[in-house]
Amino acid sequence: MTFSLEDFFRPEILAERAYHVAKADGMIKLDAMENPYTWPEDLTQAWIGQLRQIPLNRYPSPSAHALKAVLRRYAQIPDEAEILLGNGSDEIIQILLLGLAGQTDAVVLAPEPTFVMYRQIAKWLNLGFIGVPLNCDFSLNLQAMLKAIARYRPKIVFLAYPNNPTGNLFEETAILTIIDRTPGLVVLDEAYAPFAQVSFMDRIGQFTNLLVMQTLSKLGLAGLRLGFLTGPKTWIEQLEKLRLPYNINVLTQLSAEFALHHRAVFDQQTARIRANRESLFQELSKLPQVQAFPSAANFILFRVNDADGVFERLRQQGVLIKNLNQEGGLLCGCLRVTVGTAEENQAFLRALSAAL
Ligand code: PMP
Repeated sequence: MTFSLEDFFRPEILAERAYHVAKADGMIKLDAMENPYTWPEDLTQAWIGQLRQIPLNRYPSPSAHALKAVLRRYAQIPDEAEILLGNGSDEIIQILLLGLAGQTDAVVLAPEPTFVMYRQIAKWLNLGFIGVPLNCDFSLNLQAMLKAIARYRPKIVFLAYPNNPTGNLFEETAILTIIDRTPGLVVLDEAYAPFAQVSFMDRIGQFTNLLVMQTLSKLGLAGLRLGFLTGPKTWIEQLEKLRLPYNINVLTQLSAEFALHHRAVFDQQTARIRANRESLFQELSKLPQVQAFPSAANFILFRVNDADGVFERLRQQGVLIKNLNQEGGLLCGCLRVTVGTAEENQAFLRALSAAL
């Protein structure tokens, strides 16, 4: 007799819906916070030239020393901090939570709404998860956070800075208070650092429980899947044990190194995206049926009446954004648009005017 699915999986896993990635073929794709710009042809040629020399028959460097040295300069990682690499920062969240697996009383905490993977992966691993509601303006409810931290004594607190999907930066003093009062680790998820231009990276040495996580995805390398976590050596050393030895493949290692040697290209692109974000925000704010929220990231959250209808009418016009209405709570009526090229943003605004 073989096991049934019910014998095999926990009910939470059976009830789970697989992560849904919307079909985007032929559409203006403004749903996933990607950088819309590609590379100049000479850069692509130089990159291909380097790829040719990679011995694909060999495993990648397990420590990725060369890549880490480049990342250290790129993200201004302090000398005293260590680096853990992940196949995207998604995998780093998984590694962090894997460290708690099997602890029946371990609690993970984050303000909500926020990046869904913190809750999701905690659930997969059967860890307790406490979501503390943000204020109506999406700022941290510091009193509620401190109360929950004192009550549940979380092993890990995740703070996305800027927050996804709301786009705002939490107040620095509130974050410092949370780091001070949390008995466990505080992971500042700075996935959108290239657009926020602020970071807690230089504060790593000041605390024993602060870890800072970044990714190359939003910079313009989402396809490579490279995230990194930085923090005190004592913590990173333990987490390293939970990382699969060859999680960063040779193509990613070399391509990320190559790309960061040509950093100016990405700096120009992200500056352009930040400028596009300001124009898009101003245009959205002019629309009386739209409530747009200021953003320090490469996307803008906005609220409309009939979000489901507006989302669908945008889709019918070939523009794909993200519908957050079903999440409920503070996200009722909310849609999220990624900042695209100036042309894409204009096409989105035209489609939106027709859809409202
Ligand atoms: N953190 C936040 C806040 C995000 O929004 C995302 C992606 N949307 C990630 C982490 C994961 O990014 P990646 O796995 O591409 O590094």
